[in-house]
Amino acid sequence: MDTPNRGKVLLEVLRQGLERYGQRQTQTMLGDRTAYIGMSDIGRYAECPRAALAGKLLPPEASLERLLTLQRGHWFEDGVGQCLHALGLHVLPQLEIRHVYQGASIRAHLDFTLVWEQPRPAVRILEVKSMEQLPADPYAAHELQISGQLGLLCRLWNKPAFSLRDADGRILHDKLTFPQICRAHLCLALPDSVRDVSLEGWLLCLSMKEARAFGPYGYDAELLANILTQARAFWAQLQDIRTGSLMLDVVPHAQGFHPLCACCRFNADCPKFPQGDYQPQWQPALTRLEALKQNHLALDAEIREMEAALKLAHSLSGTRDWINAGQHRFRLATTAGRRSLNKAALFNELTEIFRFEKIEDIDVDALLFRCEREGASASRLIINTIS
Ligand code: SF4
Repeated sequence: MDTPNRGKVLLEVLRQGLERYGQRQTQTMLGDRTAYIGMSDIGRYAECPRAALAGKLLPPEASLERLLTLQRGHWFEDGVGQCLHALGLHVLPQLEIRHVYQGASIRAHLDFTLVWEQPRPAVRILEVKSMEQLPADPYAAHELQISGQLGLLCRLWNKPAFSLRDADGRILHDKLTFPQICRAHLCLALPDSVRDVSLEGWLLCLSMKEARAFGPYGYDAELLANILTQARAFWAQLQDIRTGSLMLDVVPHAQGFHPLCACCRFNADCPKFPQGDYQPQWQPALTRLEALKQNHLALDAEIREMEAALKLAHSLSGTRDWINAGQHRFRLATTAGRRSLNKAALFNELTEIFRFEKIEDIDVDALLFRCEREGASASRLIINTIS
């Protein structure tokens, strides 16, 4: 056997191991996922009902890339758990909340629930998300997930809806109220009324290099009602597809540009993308373009790394002058930041001026709009991988 083939065999061993470990972890900690819908399922449903239903009905993807992405989430979560443990905080890991809403079986699994009594009883839910690149703003599906978790915790505070398992999946506490589970597991006495507790949810987004926290999210009764309504619709459609009275292709799908479509594993026959002409002669060019883009990304990352290393070398050298390296010289220079127009400030200034001049019937928004210029439209090539 030659070396590349032996390498492939090794990767296949890793893939199989990840698949088996993932299945065991899911079964141990989350139970039979076909028997309920989770908060992350509902978040996905809010973005694209078709993708969420297909994900629930079809077997999970088992490519090495996908399994590594899933496992990365678990590894990050373990790491966060160890950090919280090292600080001696009172934490309930993987707290499960069960709820049946108008026939829909819902379960929320809260990554970490931090609890304390003093100076005021407080509960903080942390939902950990691992990503390659951190977003500037939180994703809507993640916000829905943390809001739903917080909503259920608040709504079911005094109901026997909470359970906790150990790391091997054995039930430690089953069907207790939230104050009961805190007393049993953490020896903490929480009030019987959730009104006496400070309650917040946070999204903790982590990449290999950075971390960003989004929050706090609070209890919102209207949002919870909306989430439960979506859960009921999701559950009903799931049962209808299982019994054959509904076809997946008539289920609504995401409209307009949706970033998940590019990597959605159900995009091959999605009605959002009509089949179009079949012209296989373009496939080699598209494959080559994709490879070039990948190289471009890798080169960009390498360039940024080299630049950062040379900047550091220059600043550590203590000189403000050029450093001569033989064929090239380099130094650090400071460039001015980009100037941009603050439209909100201009709006406020103009509104004030017009008010002062008693010219109050001017629509400042419309005035600003008339002064905007739109560049010429340009054609853009959009390429999706067909899963
Ligand atoms: S391709 Fe896009 S619209 Fe179609 S199921 Fe996937 S996410 Fe939804």
